[in-house]
Amino acid sequence: MNRPRPTPQIDPVALAHSLGVPRDYGRVRGLRRVREPAQLATIGRDTQGREQYLAPRAARAWARMREAAMHDSVELEIVSAFRGIEYQLGIVRRKLERGQSMDEILRVSAAPGYSEHHTGRALDITTPGYTALEEEFERSPAFAWLRKNAKLYKFSLSYPRGNRHGIAYEPWHWCWHEKSPRPR
Ligand SMILES: [Zn+2]
Repeated sequence: MNRPRPTPQIDPVALAHSLGVPRDYGRVRGLRRVREPAQLATIGRDTQGREQYLAPRAARAWARMREAAMHDSVELEIVSAFRGIEYQLGIVRRKLERGQSMDEILRVSAAPGYSEHHTGRALDITTPGYTALEEEFERSPAFAWLRKNAKLYKFSLSYPRGNRHGIAYEPWHWCWHEKSPRPR
């Protein structure tokens, strides 16, 4: 689908900085400001029944990978895929309202403008019998399958244990890279 592109009144990334995201956040974490894709393609529904989207090429790679996993009796389910910068800002604001400090928030959530989910190339994966977005996913057959096969489809784990971005270990978060990703 073509995405409508309204001109936002206020840059959501600037707004996030005004809410307490440190100015040097990107540099310190080794994270880049990312862009949203011009186009998105549907990849089917997530575990909550919501339609999910990725950038077209990542969507095709995901469809092939999911199919191959299914062929090996491994079910890969979508928790979340594309998330816009405005949406991420909403997450951060809700957490602030609930009393979390920005420091705490940025330990688990990327700052708006810096999440791989904005690119339409990243998605969070789960499999039946495991709690979504929990470390226990690393003990699932789906995770073992991904470790072995995801690279064939140009997906890689973005935040392994002890990653240089200081982001919590996320065995469920995989990102499609056109070229082989840099070693982390
Ligand atoms: Zn993720």
